[in-house]
Amino acid sequence: MTEQTRTSGTASEKPVGQCPLYKKCGGCQLQNLSYSQQLQWKQRLEERLLGKFAPVLPIIGMQDPYHYRNKVQAAFGVNRRKEIISGVYQSSTHRIVPVESCQLEDQTADAIIATIRRLCADFRIVPYDEDRRTGLLRHVLVKRGFHSDEVMVVLVTSGPILPAKNNFVAALRRQHPQITTVLQNINPYRTSLVLGEQEKVLYGPGTIEDTLCGCRFRISARSFYQINPVQTEILYSKAIEFAGLTGSESVIDAYCGVGTIGLIASAHAKSVVGVELNRDAVRDAITNCRLNRIQNARFYAADAGEWMLAMAEERQTADVVFMDPPRAGSDERFLHSLLTLAPERIVYISCNPETLARDLKILTGSAYAVRKIQPVDMFPHTHHVETVVLMSKVDVLKK
Ligand code: SAH
Repeated sequence: MTEQTRTSGTASEKPVGQCPLYKKCGGCQLQNLSYSQQLQWKQRLEERLLGKFAPVLPIIGMQDPYHYRNKVQAAFGVNRRKEIISGVYQSSTHRIVPVESCQLEDQTADAIIATIRRLCADFRIVPYDEDRRTGLLRHVLVKRGFHSDEVMVVLVTSGPILPAKNNFVAALRRQHPQITTVLQNINPYRTSLVLGEQEKVLYGPGTIEDTLCGCRFRISARSFYQINPVQTEILYSKAIEFAGLTGSESVIDAYCGVGTIGLIASAHAKSVVGVELNRDAVRDAITNCRLNRIQNARFYAADAGEWMLAMAEERQTADVVFMDPPRAGSDERFLHSLLTLAPERIVYISCNPETLARDLKILTGSAYAVRKIQPVDMFPHTHHVETVVLMSKVDVLKK
């Protein structure tokens, strides 16, 4: 069996639940199972929800299912002994569970966060207190480019003034020379959102870059980017393989984010149109398009369903539609517009098999049949699972 079709984990056959924070943190719901049992659990879940549409291919697991998260965020606070702590909020509370290291998180990121805790004490930077609304440092966010090794650190503060910021950044970089950019994000609101709208670059270009499937991507503090780079490459490669592109197709990348799938597909297609609601993400997609000198892709900020309906009304066509909606799945408007536009093939990338099953029921009700279902384990130790589905038109004559 190749690594690609592996359903068992070689990394450990034992349960991995030794993490002392397993219960309090709640992030790793499947830690009581060995990795191969986790993969079996996800396979069975997919078969139960999706097996009625087509056979489910064996889930693609990770060779090394640890420290895969290349985006790490930590909330800052103080404990009863007035020591600075950082970590995650205890499930459904606003109490911080201190985290020294995490089996899912990038180890460089964890080390940087530990250094920031020590530096805060040296520089007398006080963590923010949500109840009293005092103090400064709320969160630290670290992103690392898997292939580029570039590291971004974002200090999220309650106000604009960060005392001795230049010395603070210099001290941080001395201990972690791999940091390529540092930002301050200002979030003065009473909110559970980590990032505010205002941003200041304290060091470096303010963004990092990484490559995925041979394309370069610029990553900013606020833009969405998949958090498991190893499995993302596998997921996107499967999506593009399923699309069966020959170089002559017109392609739509619906819910395109920063343009990843569309830009990677553009080398194998005649043209690509990416549609995304979030304007910042569309701006990043256009930048990424330029960065890769891609000439045959365009990106638009719009509701994907409305966009496709407008296309159909103008009698434009598409051969392949990639769709990668958020966890809530797609909506009726989008699915209706997809049936109106009637592409030859649809590749649905989903992070929630329940909403995927609901949407597939609508699409397979008339015009389409499911040809392939490929689960990919993007988030080992959690109950999340990603799926790529290929649909194509039902041949009415053969029906
Ligand atoms: N394909 C991208 C992003 C997927 S996340 C990637 O793999 O990185 C889902 C995206 O759908 C988000 O960027 C979100 O902003 C976008 N979105 C949500 N509702 C939308 C809608 N109605 N129309 C277009 N985009 C939408």
